[in-house]
Amino acid sequence: MGGREEKEDLISKVYKLVLEHGDKGILQSELWKRLNLTSRDGSRIATRLEKRKLIKRERVLEGGRWTYKLIPLVIPIDTSSIENSPCITCPNEGKCDVESPISPLTCIYLENWLLEEYEREGKKDEARSSET
Ligand code: SF4
Repeated sequence: MGGREEKEDLISKVYKLVLEHGDKGILQSELWKRLNLTSRDGSRIATRLEKRKLIKRERVLEGGRWTYKLIPLVIPIDTSSIENSPCITCPNEGKCDVESPISPLTCIYLENWLLEEYEREGKKDEARSSET
């Protein structure tokens, strides 16, 4: 895998594809193929998403071989609402806790993102009410 940005982009892509398959999940081999990832890189990404409690890996027998299916743990109503969340690709996610120095309560990235989302939703509401 390349630089950090490229890696973060791939993590988001993997997460988005898993989300798109909802409850039934997606076989990891299919996912790696679609994103042109080696199974080593793909597995690393899946492990990171699993550690962040965004997905789970379920062992399944497919064509006589054991493999994993990736299933989202939380399915948002509208995936676009979280796809740019800074937490998905945050390198400090493992250390982030409300009781630690790195905390969502003081995180500028999270704050900025929430403000942007809030503004975006406000604009959508305005557009909706002007349509009626
Ligand atoms: S709240 Fe901030 S520090 Fe914590 S995981 Fe999200 S982006 Fe990272």
